[in-house]
Amino acid sequence: MTDSTSFDIIVVGGGPVGLSCGWQASAQGQRTLVLDRHGFFNEQCGTSGAERHWRLQYTQEDLFRLTLETLPLWRRLESLAERKLIHHIGSLWFGDIEVDTNEGQIAETARVMDKLELRYDWLTAKEIERRYGFTNLPKHYAGFMQPDGGAIDVRGTLAALYGLAQQHGCHLRGGERVLGLTPDADGVTVRTDRTTYRAAKVVLANGAEVNHLLTPLGATLDIKLYEMALVSLPRRDEDVDFPFWFVFQQPTEEDTNLFYGFGRNPWSPSELVRLGPVFEVNPIDDADQATGVPDPRHVRRLTSWVGEHVPSLDPTPAQTSTCLAVLPGDPRRQFYLGLADKLVPHGEHIVLYSSGWGFKFVPLLGEICVDLAMSGTTKHDISRLSPTATQEAQQ
Ligand SMILES: Cc1cc2nc3c(=O)[nH]c(=O)nc-3n(C[C@H](O)[C@H](O)[C@H](O)COP(=O)(O)OP(=O)(O)OC[C@H]3O[C@@H](n4cnc5c(N)ncnc54)[C@H](O)[C@@H]3O)c2cc1C
Repeated sequence: MTDSTSFDIIVVGGGPVGLSCGWQASAQGQRTLVLDRHGFFNEQCGTSGAERHWRLQYTQEDLFRLTLETLPLWRRLESLAERKLIHHIGSLWFGDIEVDTNEGQIAETARVMDKLELRYDWLTAKEIERRYGFTNLPKHYAGFMQPDGGAIDVRGTLAALYGLAQQHGCHLRGGERVLGLTPDADGVTVRTDRTTYRAAKVVLANGAEVNHLLTPLGATLDIKLYEMALVSLPRRDEDVDFPFWFVFQQPTEEDTNLFYGFGRNPWSPSELVRLGPVFEVNPIDDADQATGVPDPRHVRRLTSWVGEHVPSLDPTPAQTSTCLAVLPGDPRRQFYLGLADKLVPHGEHIVLYSSGWGFKFVPLLGEICVDLAMSGTTKHDISRLSPTATQEAQQ
């Protein structure tokens, strides 16, 4: 009889990254358990809403190479799940081209696209207005359109990953919270609110709550949590459509002054389109403090930008919600990804991934975490993302 409390790999967190690990580990014959405190497909943590931005371009060359390595994995996932997950509606970045955020920088990203020979069109403010229907853009704004970018179907991805994990015999338990880990020379004891398990390796894919499990072991990651607004607006004109767009602007005294929006959703068209501010302000201390209600000032800032610059949208919100953005405290760092061997005693049995704008990397993150759990190494260059990489390495 198989022991129902003993596994090769236990994955803590069943969001997209945890499910990607569950699928890829079980597909390689690993006896795998994925645990999620809120249940699968929940929208209470770092994954809510229908779509995410897919892009190849990055200011940092190592991340740019990782997106190129991720694309074939998305194709494989799409083929196995028999559904399209990335919709190539294009990726339009514009604004003040020297503004530097942890999302990118237009001028520097264009230089890296030249180096890696990724096609794009460079556009002036007038051309952006003419092509995409924005108005009153400051004259010095410029940017680029990268046609291979677009939108990822979030719920389709989760369903695909869950289905594949299940198909390969992965054990999936929702509504069960991991309370503590005890790593030792042979593996890890995992204590939950229901029972105790034993695993050879543990993957921490629990996003905002990673420190709940690391801090008792003596290590705390520097992460910040922001409850960000998601806003759906009605379209005034059926014929006008957008690529994914992101406007980079100089920060104001009160916020980071960044906005983004999607065009018509290609997999479930509606008269609404989704937009959001990316305001890294007023961090909360803990995921459980998230209210699900956006800051009205943030919604107003977004809708007044839309009122001034996007005439084809009605700036009166039809729906609002929030999503928890989990970001490294140091804006030069994009993710925490690697073994915890130099972080906590017997951390060689613990792999962790947390924080950053990670949806576009979901199939790759699963592959890397499973590589690390099974062999301690990966062929992908993640040296700068290691949990113990120094600040100098991020420069
Ligand atoms: C507004 C917004 C816009 C974004 N836009 C983009 C984008 O355009 N492109 C992009 O690539 N990324 C984007 N991101 C980031 C992306 O959405 C996240 O990186 C990704 O969804 C996080 O997935 P995850 O699996 O790491 O974490 P989560 O989805 O947060 O999953 C973690 C899971 O762990 C579970 N959990 C926590 N603690 C425990 C415990 N102790 N025991 C058991 N289970 C536990 C939780 O219930 C949760 O289900 C955006 C994020 C936000 C907020």
